[in-house]
Amino acid sequence: LEHINVDIPIGGGFLKPAVWLQAVNDVSLSVLKGETLALVGESGSGKSTLGYVVAGLRKQTAGTVTFNSARPGGEGHTPVQVIFQDPFSALDPRMVVGEIVAEPLRLKGVPADKRQARAVDVLGQVGLPPEAARRYPHQFSGGQRQRIAIARALIAEPEMIVADEPLSALDVSIQSQVLNLLDDIKKQHGISYLFISHDLGVVRHLADRVAVLYLGRLMEVAASEDLFQTPSHPYTQALLAAVPRIGRGRRKKEQILRGEIPSPLAPPSGCVFHTRCPKAQDICKSQRPALLPAPGRPTQLSACHFKD
Ligand code: SF4
Ligand code: MG
Repeated sequence: LEHINVDIPIGGGFLKPAVWLQAVNDVSLSVLKGETLALVGESGSGKSTLGYVVAGLRKQTAGTVTFNSARPGGEGHTPVQVIFQDPFSALDPRMVVGEIVAEPLRLKGVPADKRQARAVDVLGQVGLPPEAARRYPHQFSGGQRQRIAIARALIAEPEMIVADEPLSALDVSIQSQVLNLLDDIKKQHGISYLFISHDLGVVRHLADRVAVLYLGRLMEVAASEDLFQTPSHPYTQALLAAVPRIGRGRRKKEQILRGEIPSPLAPPSGCVFHTRCPKAQDICKSQRPALLPAPGRPTQLSACHFKD
């Protein structure tokens, strides 16, 4: 992704111009083959919007998306697939699971018998029996429905999966099963994930690298280990401090992050985080900091005038 902007018109109508929301602002980022890159940030930070740009479900206003396929030719499969948060609304209730899972192949004109065989095969890969193909989505639990959605993504032999909060609609007891399944799939198929999440515990477990978004801007990009152990950006530091730890009780987020997240319709000048940042100085109000390596850490990028 090079300098991606996504501006979304809000409201407007007869003789009334829309207000433009900068959902994503000047984001440059890459996801490597076989890598899990997590996009984290509070709601409204632009994570899903950016994910949909990557998946081709939304067009960027400016900037370039380049996909370097690792496969010669590249026909016969769809390189980027999406898994959504809510596994129920993402599955058509009138179709049997075999048809749902095989849909990406139907759209490509693959004949019915071949589709069914492939559907049973990918259902097996996500731990569901062949009979599952003949049943309807409502006959499955939330965790099983998310497995069905994963099978539908897999059938297209993607090189990348955009997973938008894939665990957050599931019971805590089954989240780890689905998490392990995603991990296994990555190891088996070498698929890259763009993993969108606000759950830092899950991100720490799954991600190779993490990109932190705030009001549509990148605050920090680093290897997962570096980001969690030595966060450079004040916003990342605040996010991590708000995560509950065993034996330490939960500190209230408000104690660390002052005030509310500003309206994305009127983002603060300079560094967008300056209205809530404990380290903010005058320069932060007027100059947007560039995303640059933290001192002595060439691969840990942080957009802050006073980064650690
Ligand atoms: Fe805080 Fe200034 Fe750094 Fe922004 S640039 S995160 S306001 S210290
Ligand atoms: Mg979202």
